[in-house]
Amino acid sequence: MDFLTLVSDVCGIICAYTSLKRGIRAVLSLLVDNLSLEGACLFLTRGRVYVWPDDVEFHEYRMALEGGAVEGMEVVPLPKMRGEGRGYLVVRRKRVLSSEEKRLLEVVARQLAQFLRHVRIQKELKAGARLLLDLYSAGRELGSVLDRKELAQKLAEYAREFSGADLVNITLFEGEGKHSSLALFVGKEDGDIIKFYNEGLYRRVVVPLATTKGNWGVLEFYLPREATFSRHQKRVIHILAELAGTFLENITLYDRLKFLLEEREKRIRFLSILYQVGNAYRWTSELRKRFFLALRALTDPQKGLGLPEAYFFIRDEAKGVLKGVMGISWSEVSPWGDQDWTVDEEYIGRIEGSPAFRDLKDVVPSGPPWNKLERGEVVYLCHGSTLPFMNEGMVYVVFPLMAGDNLVGAILVGKEGGFDSEEVHFLTMFSHQLALAVESARLQEVLKVTGRELKEAQERFLHSEKLAALGELAARVAHDLKNPLVAIGGFARRLHEKMAEDCPDKVYTGTILKEVEEAEKILSNVLGYARVPSLRKRFADINSLLDDVLFLHAEEMRDRNIALVKKLDRSLPPVSIDPAQMRQVFMNLVSNALQAIRKKGSIAVSTSKEESNGREYVKVEISDTGGGIPEDVLPNIFNPFFTTKSTGTGLGLSIVKRIVELHGGEIRVVNNPPIGATFVIYLPLGEEGEGSDRSS
Ligand code: ADP
Repeated sequence: MDFLTLVSDVCGIICAYTSLKRGIRAVLSLLVDNLSLEGACLFLTRGRVYVWPDDVEFHEYRMALEGGAVEGMEVVPLPKMRGEGRGYLVVRRKRVLSSEEKRLLEVVARQLAQFLRHVRIQKELKAGARLLLDLYSAGRELGSVLDRKELAQKLAEYAREFSGADLVNITLFEGEGKHSSLALFVGKEDGDIIKFYNEGLYRRVVVPLATTKGNWGVLEFYLPREATFSRHQKRVIHILAELAGTFLENITLYDRLKFLLEEREKRIRFLSILYQVGNAYRWTSELRKRFFLALRALTDPQKGLGLPEAYFFIRDEAKGVLKGVMGISWSEVSPWGDQDWTVDEEYIGRIEGSPAFRDLKDVVPSGPPWNKLERGEVVYLCHGSTLPFMNEGMVYVVFPLMAGDNLVGAILVGKEGGFDSEEVHFLTMFSHQLALAVESARLQEVLKVTGRELKEAQERFLHSEKLAALGELAARVAHDLKNPLVAIGGFARRLHEKMAEDCPDKVYTGTILKEVEEAEKILSNVLGYARVPSLRKRFADINSLLDDVLFLHAEEMRDRNIALVKKLDRSLPPVSIDPAQMRQVFMNLVSNALQAIRKKGSIAVSTSKEESNGREYVKVEISDTGGGIPEDVLPNIFNPFFTTKSTGTGLGLSIVKRIVELHGGEIRVVNNPPIGATFVIYLPLGEEGEGSDRSS
């Protein structure tokens, strides 16, 4: 083979082979065959040796390389290439080599040097590509993490893998460098790290995890004292640190954004609850319903704040204390369901019947923390310090309901873990709104009652005006009718007496006489009402007055099968009264009782002594079993001319009332339908009126 062919073959081998060992051995075998050599060796740095043929005694070749006198050896150094170690081609010739052959050895040595460089670059390129891929997948994995702790964990694992360090530590800075937080160790054998590694024995490498926006943490490697990173490792670690810095910055931004969004959502939710419940308050002025709405706003997890506990208290103005109203306490299922914001009785009934509902009517909270509410302060309660229904493990806060400077009520809310500042802010606004709702409901109630009273007073006034005019007219008519009636009665009596007993017309005169008597009674009633009576008081025995009146009706009662139950206290002292007027009182009441009883029944009359407000009274009760007074009739019975009877004048009870009141007494009616009615008269004892004469 000529030299040119040999060189070109060597070139072919160098280009075709990627394996260092096989390439070199192929070149060496070409040399051995073509230059009639005994063998050839290639010595490289770090003790690497390639030989051809396999059975050569390569230590002889090494001796030759190290300058020893070995027969037939040729040593050709490989030209120095940048970034490469040294290399020597050593051959053992069988014969003397020509100068051309020696020249050829030098050319092959150069080609071998280039081959070495070529293989190394190729290897590096391959490693670079693999690294890029590894970094790419590390980047992808780190980039997909949104939790700082998880990112630190993954970063530590990658850093250890790329660096080969025994120990990696990551410290993260949180927020604006306010808190440093996380120390994370990844060792080759977990658990041994703390025991064996002592920083004093190790070299610490610090890599900041930073971006242009700030420092997000520090990555630290602990290496054995003398060890260091290769250029390649340093590059990788820098890339990793830069990636981690960027991701940490992103996570910080993401966290901040998430926090802001959550805050905004919370605020919108709070405002929406305030708006909805405020709107709902408008549809009812009833305090109870407004409390239900407010309870829902606080405890409904869907439409409201979803607190597990909320209770309301209202101030009892008369006693000057807070009193419980109602509350809700739920744990798994809220009682509210998905009804809209309206509150009808059926819905309220359902909530009141649910196990979550608490009726607090008997709860009267007191003690120093509650007194603070008077000053408009929010009060934090410890469990067990106050109310029996409070649960262990909950944090309780009481918000005062202030209308101006006045405490009108309070809200007690409870939650595990307590309330953050946003919630306290919301609850403060909520209690302002509820305080207004409570106050306006109360005012509306007062307004309604006052309006009703005003209307009634107005009606009463108009009515009494009308009655006064009517009374006057009736009195005049009665007065004018009285004389003709007396004449009719007188003449009729005369005619009647003159008529023979068997005269058939005598029945007519008899009827005239009876009717005239009736008409006279009516007239005297009307005149009696129109005349303001002057009392001729004297001490008299009420019991004997009642005995007289009842005696007058005894026959009728017997006839009509009406029982009389008399329970008169015979030890009563004499009472200062006008006996004639008082007789009329009892007459009217007993007549009414008799008229009320349609078929059979009973009348009970009793007297007794009673004391009220330091004064003594005689109490007279007249009861009947006449069925009682219809509800719509009851308010009018003492009005003059009010009657439900076809022949009534409607003056009986108004005369009774007037006479009793002139005596400084009082009349009350105890209606007990469908059994009957009881009229109760109180007459003061120990008084003597003008013109009285003492008798009993
Ligand atoms: P009068 O008897 O002429 O109707 P009163 O003033 O005595 O007039 O009574 C007014 C009305 O009060 C009666 O029409 C009747 O409706 C009712 N009233 C009075 N007393 C009784 C009674 N004992 N039981 C039921 N209703 C009664």
